[in-house]
Amino acid sequence: MSDISEAGVVDAVGKDLFIGGKWTSAAGGRSFPVHDPSTGKVLCEVADASPEDGKAALDSAVAAQADFAAMAPRERGEILRRAYELLIARADELALLMTLEMGKPLPEAKGEITYAAEFFRWFAEEAVRIDGGYAVAPNGNGRFLVHRQPVGPTLLITPWNFPMAMGTRKLGPAIAAGCTSVIKPAAQTPLSMLALAGILAEAGLPAGVVNVLTTSDSGGVMEPLIRDGRARKLSFTGSTAVGRKLLEQCAEKVLRTSMELGGNAPFLVFDDADLDAAIEGAMQAKMRNIGEACTAANRFYVQRGIVEEFSRRLTERMSALPMGRGTEEGVVVGPLIDEAAVEKVSSLVSDAADRGAQVLTGGSAVDGPGNFYRATVLTDVPKEAKLTTEEIFGPVAPISVFDTEDEAVAAANDTEYGLVSYLFTNDVKRALRVSERLEAGMIGLNQGIVSNPAAPFGGIKQSGLGREGGTVGIDEFLETKYIAVSL
Ligand code: NAP
Repeated sequence: MSDISEAGVVDAVGKDLFIGGKWTSAAGGRSFPVHDPSTGKVLCEVADASPEDGKAALDSAVAAQADFAAMAPRERGEILRRAYELLIARADELALLMTLEMGKPLPEAKGEITYAAEFFRWFAEEAVRIDGGYAVAPNGNGRFLVHRQPVGPTLLITPWNFPMAMGTRKLGPAIAAGCTSVIKPAAQTPLSMLALAGILAEAGLPAGVVNVLTTSDSGGVMEPLIRDGRARKLSFTGSTAVGRKLLEQCAEKVLRTSMELGGNAPFLVFDDADLDAAIEGAMQAKMRNIGEACTAANRFYVQRGIVEEFSRRLTERMSALPMGRGTEEGVVVGPLIDEAAVEKVSSLVSDAADRGAQVLTGGSAVDGPGNFYRATVLTDVPKEAKLTTEEIFGPVAPISVFDTEDEAVAAANDTEYGLVSYLFTNDVKRALRVSERLEAGMIGLNQGIVSNPAAPFGGIKQSGLGREGGTVGIDEFLETKYIAVSL
């Protein structure tokens, strides 16, 4: 990708399916369009896989599995390291591609490329640290050997909101562990994953180890692969509703599963917090990715003594954010992914306003073209408002007031989700006490971002199963085998 024009970065990407190391057109030459959410225009067409293409991709992953499992861990790590370097070297082109298909502002897209690349660097290092064990049996006679092996061929499904990082967060540990895969990006943002397939091939990944399926029929193509039984694991990132359905499908052949699902993050600010830090954290936790993140602060609970100042300062910051196409200089609020997203955000805000919430700024969509919704702050949000229980997935910050710590913790935990909670306080005892009581897989303590490739990312309750990243990330792709030795 040497041309950095918009047309140039789109043209440089393969538009076919990537199966067995080759670019292959879909059965019948079918394709579907990819749109720019800031204009509604078609960027290009990509291959539209059928169930038959899906089977070919799984055949390829199954055929490549034994040789790939036998590849030296150092060699697997070096492939990941080369792919990391290629991602960093091409960050500008890849960021532009991502902004075009997904809408996020260019600096954020570039940040995602770096974040995505870091998963490859981290797992390049983890590939050579897969450990085992040797122990004396309690009776003193036998010995236990504990050996860790790749789970086998995997199915990976990723969402549209982080089109590159959600892919590398799965492919990094899969490759490090020695697993082959069939990966399916979201139909709305397939281009980043197609670009990644080219980079992995260039980095020396053997044919068939990673196979990419783009399709407009995700259920029709993936269900037969899940039910086939040859793939031994499904790793999914997406909504809880789809995750639930996939778990049922996985039950039939008892697949291992990792589920990174939806969130409904509470953001607690106590009277004793550093207010500057809380406002900064709130802007990051709310506005990263235009609010379209599973980790997005969905509900702000602020203690009575500071709620007025917090609301005023957050409103000042939110109302000053430049909105526009993500490619334009200085833009912070890009478009939402599609019209349905704008409609959903609009209806959640109207519902809150109808129930008594006050709109301090924003509160409306922008006329097209493009799927824009204004950065919004709401106060006096009642508990009954729908946006306290549903993911907003947009640039809307609803604020409610609390008096006591017990009240704040109860409100924070009053959700089926448990991905992340944010907590701002300068009292160290309260910080630890409340962190322990919050029902979430991750806590942002005096900070508005928790994602880090070196840390275990994941949720509890209906936010998912398993962890990605950190030293535990590779475990999701390894089986433990115990060999009982008689001496
Ligand atoms: P989604 O509708 O659940 O889709 C996620 C992926 O699943 C897409 O690739 C989608 O493909 C595919 N899919 C949909 N229905 C399917 C089916 N029946 N069988 C197989 N695949 C199917 O979620 P989304 O709207 O793309 O993403 C937003 C959601 O992801 C939010 O809930 C967010 O919280 C969650 N998320 C969670 C994390 C985390 O780490 N916990 C990270 C990012 C996002 P098509 O779109 O092409 O149909």
